[in-house]
Amino acid sequence: MALLHPSTSALSPRQRKTKIVATLGPSSSTAERIRELFMAGVDVFRLNFSHGSHADHGERLKLIRALEQEFGRPIAIMADLQGPKLRLATFRDGVVSLSQGQRLRLDLSLEPGDETRVGMPHPEIFAALQPGAELLLDDGRVRLSVVVCGPDFADTIVVSGTKLSNRKGVNVPGVVLPLSPLTPKDRADLAFALDHGVDWVALSFVQRPEDVAEARKLIGGRAALLSKMEKPQAIEHLEMIVELSDGVMVARGDLGVELPPEDVPSIQKRIVREARLAGKPVIVATQMLESMVSAPAPTRAEASDVATAVYDGADAVMLSAETASGDYPIEAVSIMDRIAQRVESDPLYRTIMDSQHPMLQETSADAITAAASQVAKTIRAAAIVTYTTSGSTTLRASRERPEVPVLCLASNIATARRLQLAYGVHGIHTRDIDNFSEMVQKAVRYAHSSGLAQDGQRVVITAGVPFGVPGNTNILRIARVERPPQGTATQHESAALSAVGSA
Ligand code: PGA
Ligand code: MN
Repeated sequence: MALLHPSTSALSPRQRKTKIVATLGPSSSTAERIRELFMAGVDVFRLNFSHGSHADHGERLKLIRALEQEFGRPIAIMADLQGPKLRLATFRDGVVSLSQGQRLRLDLSLEPGDETRVGMPHPEIFAALQPGAELLLDDGRVRLSVVVCGPDFADTIVVSGTKLSNRKGVNVPGVVLPLSPLTPKDRADLAFALDHGVDWVALSFVQRPEDVAEARKLIGGRAALLSKMEKPQAIEHLEMIVELSDGVMVARGDLGVELPPEDVPSIQKRIVREARLAGKPVIVATQMLESMVSAPAPTRAEASDVATAVYDGADAVMLSAETASGDYPIEAVSIMDRIAQRVESDPLYRTIMDSQHPMLQETSADAITAAASQVAKTIRAAAIVTYTTSGSTTLRASRERPEVPVLCLASNIATARRLQLAYGVHGIHTRDIDNFSEMVQKAVRYAHSSGLAQDGQRVVITAGVPFGVPGNTNILRIARVERPPQGTATQHESAALSAVGSA
């Protein structure tokens, strides 16, 4: 595709390194709204395929890509697949009252339910149930305990809860269900999303490493793959799932239904830590600013929750209902932006980031990127500039959680877009370089035009020689951003800048 050209109305660069993911929905689907969300700080737009039609998502995709052209800045789009969300069938009267201790039979019948029985059209759940198993319905508001069960029914006792209505969700904590993480609906949504060039695909209710492998095969490199951690079974295979994925999400909504709420904070920290060790982007998600669905300001506890994710060094924080269906989508992004900025400017935050350096691998890429981070700090450089094809070098630089932003110069637009999710990364779409002086010239030019480096500031550049060979990062160069002397610049260069020496 043609290069994205930064527009004259170019937005100043983001002043924070932690990224913001925002979900689009009925509150945020006009061109004007999406534009406002982007200007307020959204780095990654999430399309939630649990809601909305393909036409809705297609329209949003078009608007985001238009915005990308307008601002000349790559934007990441994430398609979040619904996954095997289990649901009850319906009730004759739409709703039933329940009392503690009463019996309720679940079966495969399509007859509308009542106080004594209701359909649950998932034979695979019945196959996996054992007496004593617990079923959580309606996000945990109703708890059932299985007394007897067979291949097509389960007799349960109501442990807690007062009512149930049509198509409420069902969670079966602690039981590995023989379900593919991709339902027929997911497969259709995935095909649509890939056809429309989404950058990330988020996989819901991952249970086993094999689930990730299966999705990976279907995606076939057309998008990056993010595993949502929302099942206890997945936490047991955390390391393996992180290894097989390009990124992970701490999906606290379902996680907090499947596990006691008091377990969620430490699991959140574990997931963030594991992902950071692997150098894979990690998102902390769900209910971050929940009260802002209907209020213009967050609670103190919510502000603190966002801050905690930032202090933990997460790559991104996420908004769901707040931007998709809430009354204050722009305000939610703005306050998230301000909280992240404030935390990142706290000296204690820097101390924490510096004390958590992950071990380096014995590769030249890791040696160079770690050195770049150190050099940038020592000489107070304005930015680290990385040249990358697949994005892996840039991710290693981001993994260092450097004090300065990481400019990612990618000839592959997909790489530039995907990496907008990663900590501190500013993706730029550019052509391949083929010689050393071009490498330096381009780096300083983009560092300046993106607003990351001012005249007289230095940048630290990493690249691989020979150029154009992926995975061979082996050089580090310091360059100063300076205006060429008056009158000597070519027409092409006059709007740009040149680099001199390693100053
Ligand atoms: P969802 O995922 O919003 O698609 O359910 C996030 C979560 O469960 O937290
Ligand atoms: Mn979920």
